[in-house]
Amino acid sequence: MVRVTPSTTPTQPLWTLSQENLQAWMAAEGHPPYRASQVWQWVWEKGVSDFSQMSNLPAALRQALAEAFPVPELQLLHERKSQDGTRKFLWQLPEGGTVETVWIPHQDRATVCVSSQVGCSLNCRFCATGQLGLERQLQGYEILLQVYTLKHRLRLPVTHIVYMGMGEPLLNYSAVIESLEGFSQKMGLSPRRITISTVGIPKGIRRLAERKEPFELAFSLHSAIPEKRQKLIPLAAHISLEEVREALITYGQTRQEWVTLEYVLLAGENDGPEDAEALRAFIAPPLQAKVNLIVYNPVPGLPFRPSPRLKAFQQALLRMGIITTIRYSRGADVAAGCGQLARQTG
Ligand code: SF4
Repeated sequence: MVRVTPSTTPTQPLWTLSQENLQAWMAAEGHPPYRASQVWQWVWEKGVSDFSQMSNLPAALRQALAEAFPVPELQLLHERKSQDGTRKFLWQLPEGGTVETVWIPHQDRATVCVSSQVGCSLNCRFCATGQLGLERQLQGYEILLQVYTLKHRLRLPVTHIVYMGMGEPLLNYSAVIESLEGFSQKMGLSPRRITISTVGIPKGIRRLAERKEPFELAFSLHSAIPEKRQKLIPLAAHISLEEVREALITYGQTRQEWVTLEYVLLAGENDGPEDAEALRAFIAPPLQAKVNLIVYNPVPGLPFRPSPRLKAFQQALLRMGIITTIRYSRGADVAAGCGQLARQTG
């Protein structure tokens, strides 16, 4: 549905406009349709969002666009660079609050880890973000801007996106979908290179299953033993593993895709033979899943330590026929690794 007319929604941010929105606005203002294509190219292909710099548009049109559509930006408050090349950015958001984004170069990839909420309500025990609580939901365009800003303002390459920063993406579903559409339809990134990571929201997983974009889904399992998982992830006391598993099966069957299970290996918590056995039972057909074992990044003040049994645990899973990869989290020296985002500026 086309929402924009000059008089009804004069303050809609530029980032939220679709091509149809722009065309409708141009038509209402008496401009030919190709003007909308020109603006679109400036914004999404050339990375220019300042209307005054759109040199092939008439001056009066540039002025009218600037009056009609605000162009909110992220403001860089702080940046840290890891020895491994990873960079972590702390932003002031247009609509209030701060979040972090991590840019991770690795071989021929450059992955951006985006935040979807300011803080997080779920309070997973091993996670620095969880200690912050939830301040607010991000708008879809505020998620989109994290990548746009890195690509077009800081001129960093971007090949992949993961929703693994601050927040639980499926608890901010509509904004996440808006950003996902923006990444693929406006910024031209393949949905296959976008991973949504969830701690397990069955309703959200089922809604994702119905969508046609071929993005990836990762489920943060961390323990397949319900009592242990509840100790790590308080949400698990309210949503059973079986419920999540059913939703993952639906997802896999609807989309003909495998799901990735994220499993952060914590010393003495979830790294024993009984844990590997429980994981095998969880992955039993009809669920089709592979496992990423994640090396834990210690968070100051939290009691968890990385497991010394990483290789042995991987071998145990491989012997069970489970596809298992070890993921060394990057940027840990600047607290940019998994579970470390807590908006430090030191
Ligand atoms: S691990 Fe994810 S869902 Fe859990 S508290 Fe941290 S940000 Fe929230």
